[in-house]
Order: sequence, then structure tokens, then C-alpha cells
Amino acid sequence: MTVPIDHIIETPPRAPSPVHGFGTLAVHAGAPHDPTTGAVIEPISLSTTFAQTAAGKPVGLYEYSRSSNPNRDNFEQAVAALEHAKYALAFGSGSAATATILQSLAQGSHVISVSDVYGGTHRYFTRVAKAHGVTVTFTPQIEVDIAEHIRDNTKLVWIESPSNPTLRLVDIRAVATAAHSRGVAVVVDNTFLSPYVQNPLDHGADIVVHSVTKYINGHSDVVMGLAAFNSDELRERLSFLQNAGGAVPSAFDSWLAHRGVKTLHLRVRQSSGNATAVAKALEASPHVISVNYPGLDSHPHRHIALKQHREGMGGGMLSFRIKGGRAAAERFCQLTKIFTLAESLGGIESLVELPSAMTHAGIPRDQREAVGVFDDLVRVSCGIEEPEDLLRDVQQALEKAVLETASSSNGSNGINGSNGANGHELK
Ligand SMILES: *Cc1c(COP(=O)(O)O)cnc(C)c1O
Repeated sequence: MTVPIDHIIETPPRAPSPVHGFGTLAVHAGAPHDPTTGAVIEPISLSTTFAQTAAGKPVGLYEYSRSSNPNRDNFEQAVAALEHAKYALAFGSGSAATATILQSLAQGSHVISVSDVYGGTHRYFTRVAKAHGVTVTFTPQIEVDIAEHIRDNTKLVWIESPSNPTLRLVDIRAVATAAHSRGVAVVVDNTFLSPYVQNPLDHGADIVVHSVTKYINGHSDVVMGLAAFNSDELRERLSFLQNAGGAVPSAFDSWLAHRGVKTLHLRVRQSSGNATAVAKALEASPHVISVNYPGLDSHPHRHIALKQHREGMGGGMLSFRIKGGRAAAERFCQLTKIFTLAESLGGIESLVELPSAMTHAGIPRDQREAVGVFDDLVRVSCGIEEPEDLLRDVQQALEKAVLETASSSNGSNGINGSNGANGHELK
């Protein structure tokens, strides 16, 4: 095994590839046959260390598993291909990927971020990066006022599209053009859509990050993160930090996530179809105040979805405001039988949650309501179950929740509206 496996077994070309479609790359990129046994599926390489024939002369490509190992390499190659990136680096969580990118900035650097950024990212920006001399400006309308916020020390713009949990979109090309004209790099957190629906690097972003925990692994059994990009200089800096910081995923988790990503296209097509069906049913329901879903024509940023998303797909996430206030929203989440009340998203199973009391409980009420996170907002992650079953489940839960809370009057049936200083972390 002295020859790198790529040289023995023909694998489809690594992206950017004009030749192969998404599903073909998902199955084959970074998936060489085992050179000694011919195994079609790669073995799990648990060894932490690799034999050397002379000092500093490893037998193959690997020396020590934190620095690199076959399963992580293969997984990184697979996602790089799907994100149209030259490189991808995997981390122990999405949060570790975020932290590593922030650590790559010099002390005194400035970052501009969308205000409704993922809660954990907000926490890192305000409570960790700050302590290391990196400051962050948050703006609710980044396309409009990015130029005003750029300073001499601005190094990075951080965007998320769609936002969580209100599913607002950002025009990545518009932000990248403004940022690049001032020499500022753009990071896009693409967790909510996955590389199947959106490829931020194609719209001018410099780095795309994922919580692999969500759609890419897709089976709610791995916590992992990833950053993908094209620049050789970024690869140098970030892979140095990947090794130096050591927040890396295990070989086993890398293997699981690689197995997960091979069906990403099938899963996301089904989740997005399911979310479209659910969003339309909610929009037509007398029990619903409003629906946030970028696949609907009524979405205020539908034009961005049509330009930025594969076939204008809306993805698997949506949120809606139910009539009957916080009590009805909470009852809805308890009354669904297929949708499980839980945090997280992007798995094969459908989930519901109450952002004001769960994922976004740490944000003061006035700030949360300013971005549309009211007590009656329910967030839904559509899984890959049959749409008819999901629709029936939503309808029965809506009817019961709204009726129950209406008959118990005043909406104060023992569930108070305090915005949960209940120790929940932001997910
Ligand atoms: C979950 C999530 C993260 C953080 O990822 P972890 O794997 O939980 O650390 C970052 N961004 C978004 C949009 C997420 O949903």
C-alpha cells in the first residue's frame, strides 16, 4: 500500500466537475474501492497511528489520525465535490468549524454578521471571539447596509440563508460583490439547505460552512461540521488550525457521515417536497396566521430562491404562526404523532419545536420579536416520511390545538409566556 489509492483505482474526477451530476458525485466522490480487498465500501480505519519505513517516511499517506485519516479524507473529498469546492475540512461539530474560522483571524479583526445568525454562532461571536480581540457588528439588512459597516479592519462577512427560524433569504451574490470590492471575505452557513439545494461558492462566497449534524449526515446520529472553499491559502491556514486545535471528527463518525451524504439528494428532494405540501396546507388553514417557507410564492424573498436554489426548491424547513398564542403553539407540538417535539433538524424524521421556548429562548423577547420569533411561532423540519401522513398529522394537531386552547379561554391554561430562562442552549 505504498501507492496512494487514487493512483490505483479509477474514481470519478473530483469537483469542480462539469461531467457528473449531484447524485453520481454523492455516491462516488471520495469513494475509491479498497485497493487490497476490492471492497466497494471503504473500511472504517480506526488506527490512530500509521507505520513508517524510516523516520518521517510513512508507508502511505497517513501518520497520525488527528492530522488526517482515510475516512475523514474521503468524506471531505465527497462534500468538496458536492459544494463545488477544491477543498473541504471536517470538524468535530458545526460549532468547531465556526470557531476555527474565527480563530484564523488576526487579533483586532472585525466581522459583519446577519443579526438572525444561528444562536451558537452568535454566542461564539459575542462571548468567545470578543475575548480574543475580534469584534462583530450585527445587521438585520446586510444587503442594504453592508458598505456602511465595512471598516479598514473588516475581514469577514458571515451570512446564513435561509435564516433560522424565520427562513428569510440573503442574496449571496449581492453581498459577495459588496464585500469583495473592499477585500472582505464572505462565509455562508449553508446548513439549512444542504449542498443539494444551494452552492454558495457558485454565488461568490469564499467559504461555505455546514453543521454536518443536520442534512449532510441526515440520520440524527452524528455531530460534525465542515468548511469548504477554493483558496489554497485558506487551505493552508485552516488545515493548520484543524490539526493544531484538534477539534476533529472520529474515523467512525466520518464513515457514518460519508454513508449519510450518499443519499443526500434523495433525502432532500423528499423533505423539500414534504415541506412544500405542509407549507401549502398551513397557508390554506384557518388556524394559521402566517407561514415562512421560501418555496411558496408568497415568500418575500421568493425571487432569491428562484435564482439561488436548485429548481427554486424551498428545502425541508419551515415555520408558521398558529392562532391561539403560545399555548396553542405548545399544544400543537405535543399533539403531532409523527413529528417529534425536539431540537435540531435535517434528519430523516420530522421534527417540530417552539423557538421562543427552546432554540431561541436565550434571546430577549424584544430582540426575538423584532425578527419575527413570536411565542406562537412553530418551527418544522420535514423528514422523508410519506407526505399524506405528514399532512394528516399536521391537520389533526392544528385542529385539536386551536380548539383546546380556544375552549380553555384566555390562552392562560397553565403554560406561562415567560421566555424560558430554562437553561436551554441554542441549537
Ligand atoms: C446546528 C447548527 C450549527 C451548529 O452545528 P453543531 O454541529 O450543532 O455544532 C450551525 N449553524 C446552523 C445553521 C445550525 O443549524
